[in-house]
Amino acid sequence: MAARVQRLSRSMLKTLRDDPADAETLNHKLLVRAGYVRRTAAGIWTWLPLGKQVLENVTRVVREEMDAIGGQEVLLPALLPKEPYEVSGRYEEYGDLLFRLKDRKGGDYLLGPTHEEIFTQVVKDQCTSYKDLPVIIYQIQTKYRDEARPRAGILRGREFTMKDSYSFDVTDEGLAESYALHRAAYQRIFDRLGIDYRIVSAISGAMGGSASEEFLAPAPAGEDTFAQCPQCGFAANTEALSVTVPPTATDGHPPVELLDTPDTPTIESLAAHLDVPASATLKNLLVKVDGEITAVGVPGDREVDLGKLAELLAPAEVELVTAEDFTGREDLVRGYVGPQNGMAGKAFRYLADPRVAQGTSWITGANEEGKHARNVVCGRDFEVDQYLDVVVVEPGDPCPRCGAGIELDRAIEVGHIFQLGRKYADAFELDVLGQDGKPARVTMGSYGIGVSRIVAALAEQTADEQGLCWPREVAPADVHVVAAGKAQQTEAALEIAQRLGDAGVRVVVDDRAGVSPGVKFTDAELLGVPTILVAGRGIKDGLVELKDRRSGEREELTIEDAVRRVS
Ligand code: ATP
Ligand code: MG
Ligand code: MG
Ligand code: MG
Repeated sequence: MAARVQRLSRSMLKTLRDDPADAETLNHKLLVRAGYVRRTAAGIWTWLPLGKQVLENVTRVVREEMDAIGGQEVLLPALLPKEPYEVSGRYEEYGDLLFRLKDRKGGDYLLGPTHEEIFTQVVKDQCTSYKDLPVIIYQIQTKYRDEARPRAGILRGREFTMKDSYSFDVTDEGLAESYALHRAAYQRIFDRLGIDYRIVSAISGAMGGSASEEFLAPAPAGEDTFAQCPQCGFAANTEALSVTVPPTATDGHPPVELLDTPDTPTIESLAAHLDVPASATLKNLLVKVDGEITAVGVPGDREVDLGKLAELLAPAEVELVTAEDFTGREDLVRGYVGPQNGMAGKAFRYLADPRVAQGTSWITGANEEGKHARNVVCGRDFEVDQYLDVVVVEPGDPCPRCGAGIELDRAIEVGHIFQLGRKYADAFELDVLGQDGKPARVTMGSYGIGVSRIVAALAEQTADEQGLCWPREVAPADVHVVAAGKAQQTEAALEIAQRLGDAGVRVVVDDRAGVSPGVKFTDAELLGVPTILVAGRGIKDGLVELKDRRSGEREELTIEDAVRRVS
């Protein structure tokens, strides 16, 4: 099948010599300079022709692999009524992250940040019997999140493209299978895209299991820090190392949030008592004080000293809250901190504390005023020094599995898979008729890929000093033909481009008049198409130059050989 030939003389392309003033990361600089994207507002981007093609290529790979595991593509609205998100509790929980709007009658709406609620409703409508399950449904759609710090270009947009899929099963084994299917599909997707990635545990090792994993693309521009153990291969997002979630909280747990009772000791009172400055690094945890679950802060540099706490709170009785203690006492506590909601990242060192490693503590964040933090990631959603509870996991800290010193690296979260269990099915009473004739509650998984973010992650990982350098699968073309300048060269370049196009090779041909060969060569490097074919001086002898964009290797060949080589 013939492929597209894009003539730069007829294209809307403007490359820039200088980096945009506001750009800090490589992908942001290069994608703007090479004319792939254009900033419309903070975190809101226009995809220009070349960028749109790369985005489309990523989308195609994702779609093919989702279809291959039996995923059925749908398209849900991005403009959503608030009610379903009230049912799940997320209308509140999302806080400022949510774009909220009103219609002309005053009705409340939101722009979808993710769609668990709506998918659950769809399946409640469409599937009534266990025979209708399992299903995997997905969409590739625009998502909206009013990120506190939209940065690094399309890496963290406020409007961005996500592939989100959802699995619905009757049994836990079924869910495990759907999860495994996604995990394998994600590996194929990222392999095909040419991304360097790691699969890391996204929730605490203390919780056990692989109920949530992230696909992280190592890159300095990344906002996630992940720990790897050189000894045993353990890998986890440091957010996972930071949070220990009681088993009760992950599955069908009602929303919980800390109560601010007058009896709750404040961080200040503790700080004063323990003789540390109010600006000291503090961690917070829940303890039971006289039988009531309550929040207290303790200095981050010290072990949790229950003796001191007891002394401070005397004559109250103080003890650490266990998961069992917590069960059935939800009335004392409101607001929910789950791994998917990204509780205070990189914040706690509790895992090193054996009392917590056993999964017994419920950890939360609090700010200076003792107000409880939502789901937040330190350094991104708030300034480090605004909060008192920040302790960073450090290189050399013990690996939770084998105790060897861990290594830390920066990475970009490009995908996230998650066994949700029955949280949303409970909220929406999603049952199907079971095999035994009784209603059976459905169990769910949710699986995201940052489709637009992948474009930035790939740029970040593959670019070099000269510019972008795409893997073939996502590149906007296979070959970039440069007409060095003379009429005869342009003619030959166009002819070669057409021949390649007819043979199914995607071509960009730089046939611009009045642009110097030097600029054309520089632009070819910047645009990052994998193979560059130069129709230059040799043309009069029937020769062209073939250059590999990545290795820089060049070779002079006859036109025939060159065409054969790249077809
Ligand atoms: P992050 O930790 O980077 O904020 P997240 O954990 O909030 O991401 P998920 O809710 O897991 O994101 O969404 C699934 C995927 O969508 C992520 O793995 C990521 O690749 C992508 N994504 C999330 N937020 C953004 C954003 N603001 N811009 C671009 N892609 C995003
Ligand atoms: Mg995340
Ligand atoms: Mg986020
Ligand atoms: Mg995530």
